[in-house]
Amino acid sequence: AIVYPGAGEEELRALYQKIHAYCNRPHKIDDSSYFLTVSVGVAIMGKDGSGYQELLTCALSALEVSKQNGKNTVTFFSQDMMHTRRRALELSSRLQLSVMNGMKSFHLVYQPFVHSETLRVSGAEALLRWSCESYGVVSPVEFIPLLEACGLIVPVGKWVLEEAVRTCKKWLRYQPDFIMNVNISYLQMLDESFIDFVRQILNQYDLPPAHIVLELTESCFVTDMEALKEAFKLLRNLNIQIAMDDFGTEYSSLGMLSQSPADIVKIDRLFITAIGDEENEFNRSFIGSVIQLCHRVGISVCVEGVERKNELDTVCSLEADCIQGYYISKPLLQEDFEKKFWDV
Ligand code: C2E
Ligand code: CA
Ligand code: CA
Repeated sequence: AIVYPGAGEEELRALYQKIHAYCNRPHKIDDSSYFLTVSVGVAIMGKDGSGYQELLTCALSALEVSKQNGKNTVTFFSQDMMHTRRRALELSSRLQLSVMNGMKSFHLVYQPFVHSETLRVSGAEALLRWSCESYGVVSPVEFIPLLEACGLIVPVGKWVLEEAVRTCKKWLRYQPDFIMNVNISYLQMLDESFIDFVRQILNQYDLPPAHIVLELTESCFVTDMEALKEAFKLLRNLNIQIAMDDFGTEYSSLGMLSQSPADIVKIDRLFITAIGDEENEFNRSFIGSVIQLCHRVGISVCVEGVERKNELDTVCSLEADCIQGYYISKPLLQEDFEKKFWDV
């Protein structure tokens, strides 16, 4: 910790630049060169807090934000940060209660995807929902990272998988070739009991593995983590299909697709936005190239986030295999899904 008496924001930023410049050049230790990154959180006496302890807490909150923003940066504390932190803590403890009460207040919804040639439903993605009395419906974009941060994603993820497998087994009665996609956090993949659990659930519900697709985000595929690579191998041995989710948002390189263990690539909805418009040639070319490359190496492609007719037409003309998005349907409750597609 550095105390800088009398400094204003400008002086503090200048000090950070100095430290940053020093750290970010090579430092020789025992003949090896090292670079250091430096993340900083700043709190200002009088403005952010009046006591030493209070000031330190504020600086730590700001530091946390620097780290979340990719590290090697400086963040000044703001009251909003405190609000976000408090909300995260309260939501986490409510999530914990829900889990302890037998997954109370959690449920799944199912968003269909269709085959691009026939526009017939070929499967659905199971999506987790959660609400609580004080905060109402909370988006998974907010609560999934909280479940991950406190390790609860492992038991919740198991519950999601079991629910989705149970539903899929039931739906095979209405459509024998139905596919169920389930989102899996990388933390679940690192859990040693995960693969056995998948095997056990499929056995228990007597569901052939070909009906299940596990969706993992793109970053899982470019990791050096041995444990993840091993888990991929085991899943493939089980004959379970794997989808690379949110393609294009993180470390994507077209080159990595040729060596990827993915069976399916899901192109993020970022690229579909305004694809029908004349000026959006980049997105159209991107989607087109990804589709062609994937097809060449035997990977099928699902395009997410299709909201309009002209987007659907464009994506179909680019020969995507599967289409998902509000234009086809929003995520539905189990009963509504059954009514809509099989009239039962
Ligand atoms: P995702 O896996 O990319 O899921 C697709 C998200 O896009 C869903 O949001 C879906 O409702 C939304 N979406 C689908 N079509 C459209 C469209 O045409 N337009 C727009 N604007 N949005 C569309 P949702 O349900 O809020 O889920 C957000 C994210 O939360 C998911 O992104 C996934 O990363 C995560 N998630 C959801 N359920 C689970 C789960 O059971 N386990 C894990 N690990 N993550 C989950
Ligand atoms: Ca997904
Ligand atoms: Ca996605």
